[in-house]
Amino acid sequence: MIGFIGLGAMGAKMCANLIKKGHQVAVYDVVPAAVDGMKALGATAAASPAAMAANAEVVFTSLPNSAIVEDTMLGANGILAGAKPGLFVIDLSSITPRVIQKLAKIAAEKGVDLIDAPVSGGTAGAEKGTLTIMVGASEALFAKAKPYLECIGTKIDRIGDVGAGDTVKLVNNLLFGCNMAALAEAMVLGVKAGLAPRTLFDIISKSSGSSYALTAKYENFFSKGNFQPGFMVDLEYKDLQLAIDTAKDVGMPLLFGNMAQQVYEAARAKGYGKEDMSAIVKLAEEYAGVEVREQ
Ligand code: NAD
Repeated sequence: MIGFIGLGAMGAKMCANLIKKGHQVAVYDVVPAAVDGMKALGATAAASPAAMAANAEVVFTSLPNSAIVEDTMLGANGILAGAKPGLFVIDLSSITPRVIQKLAKIAAEKGVDLIDAPVSGGTAGAEKGTLTIMVGASEALFAKAKPYLECIGTKIDRIGDVGAGDTVKLVNNLLFGCNMAALAEAMVLGVKAGLAPRTLFDIISKSSGSSYALTAKYENFFSKGNFQPGFMVDLEYKDLQLAIDTAKDVGMPLLFGNMAQQVYEAARAKGYGKEDMSAIVKLAEEYAGVEVREQ
């Protein structure tokens, strides 16, 4: 039996794909409606991470941040409180490499294997089962994880030992966060200067200024004024903090990362934290007095 903890924007879709591939899945989330959604697809509900861990061979976690992953592993009703030796835990969250490395050491003392396998590809990739998955694990644990990960992703790579997956993920999201901040400013400039948003999209998506931020976020987000996540401002803010912390650890300045984080900070101050990260366009729209919307 597989366990799955954290049934949010990403987790629910990844869990659904594991169920579709024929796995028996037990689920846990602090939000009862999220659990009900998976029960409707055939999952069973576990009373706690500890109860789940006692019966599972593999447990997946897809949680918002390092502190919650740590609590889910080490808390009184956490995974390690119920785990038997031999349990395999795969963390799909994007968290700080130092935390996953610390947790893997503590887990190993109990005979439990823990690896990091953060994902990229957004909720669309999670739904289609086409995620990119960056794994931090020994060769042996990577081989053990792969058949499970193939249920949720298509590009699955071992990056290095535990923590390496989370490291490449934070570098990716540093870039994505900076690209989105630049995109928001650039699109608003184009509209303020008199161009139609569709013209900007059509030309730039086929020019040197294109980016995943543009192609993933224009049609369903900016152009419609739809800011339902998606990937929340709060999560991108957290990922930029992971990059900033890592830059401090290795002793390098992070000019654009820090500047971009201030944009997401401003969005949080405006109350946009739970909206999709593309909601940062509203900040530039407010300065400029125009909107990047199609009629
Ligand atoms: P989310 O906030 O939508 O989902 C998190 C889920 O965890 C929620 O259902 C929440 O109720 C649950 N949760 C919170 N605390 C819990 C606890 N103590 N015990 C059990 N469940 C708990 O977030 P998401 O967008 O699904 O992201 C999950 C992780 O994946 C994050 O680390 C994020 O950075 C990463 N990620 C997200 C995306 C994306 O596009 N949304 C893409 C790649 C990676």
